[in-house]
Amino acid sequence: MNVQVVSLETRSKAKRFGGKSGGRGHIQIKGVTVRFGHGADAHQAVRETSLDIPPGQFVCLLGPSGCGKSTLLNSIAGYIMPSTGSIQVDGEAVKEPGPERGMVFQQYSLFPWKTIRDNIAFGPKVAGRGYAECSSIANTFLEMVGLTRFADKYPTELSGGMQQRVGIARALANYPSVLLMDEPFGALDAQTRLMMQENLLKIWSEFGTTVVFVTHDVDEAIFLADRVLVMSASPGSIIADLAVPLPRPRVLDMATSPDFMEIKKECLEQIRSESLKAFEEQDR
Ligand code: ADP
Ligand code: MG
Repeated sequence: MNVQVVSLETRSKAKRFGGKSGGRGHIQIKGVTVRFGHGADAHQAVRETSLDIPPGQFVCLLGPSGCGKSTLLNSIAGYIMPSTGSIQVDGEAVKEPGPERGMVFQQYSLFPWKTIRDNIAFGPKVAGRGYAECSSIANTFLEMVGLTRFADKYPTELSGGMQQRVGIARALANYPSVLLMDEPFGALDAQTRLMMQENLLKIWSEFGTTVVFVTHDVDEAIFLADRVLVMSASPGSIIADLAVPLPRPRVLDMATSPDFMEIKKECLEQIRSESLKAFEEQDR
């Protein structure tokens, strides 16, 4: 995969539209519980979760399958309303999805009938920006994700990794303050996945938006994040909040370094002891 070197022009455009977070993207989650269903069928997916994510932070939400990661992420996105508690982004209560909270899903949810360029320009067009501006925004993000050459192709003509880069570009084209990513590289092969991780960090370092990235992969979480939030098994709640003090920029070689291994060991120990605690509490 061609790892894109972002041009100076693209960089300045990204910053002009609010890059480097500009102090935006502060997520505050207070006492959030999410329940699905009613009465005897009620199921608690997220339990009493409170979090403060400062602007520009890269956070990974790490936990086993079914623990409530997507539910929590969808609540930040505004697709799900919490049963109790509140979620605010930059002081505004989240009531519905909005372009300032961009979402990237595991399944490439592109419009198959639109070209790559039109997929990326979709958000700005809906927001009422003129043709020239939409075109300029599309060019900026096509370059940022290294797909300028593929602008006039359709999604099915691209590989999975490329489609996911379009998904990222499409979310960023709205200049969101928060980027929500739900196992975005989960369907990719291991090599493409590593390249995508590095590419995402490059884009983030230019764009500076707050990122909440869901994964069940410990290595992926540590490689990407400033901070790893570990969720318990269902009903999910945050059981560990770990800082990742690895220097940036992060490069793939770091994933085998002694410092990385040390953090991974600590992370796994925390997960183990917290899981054990939860397991014993359940048993009581
Ligand atoms: P994860 O993303 O960590 O795999 P999810 O957030 O998708 O977990 O799901 C957490 C729990 O909530 C699971 O038990 C799942 O079956 C349940 N769940 C998720 N969405 C719904 C829904 N819309 N209706 C009922 N149950 C749901
Ligand atoms: Mg999920």
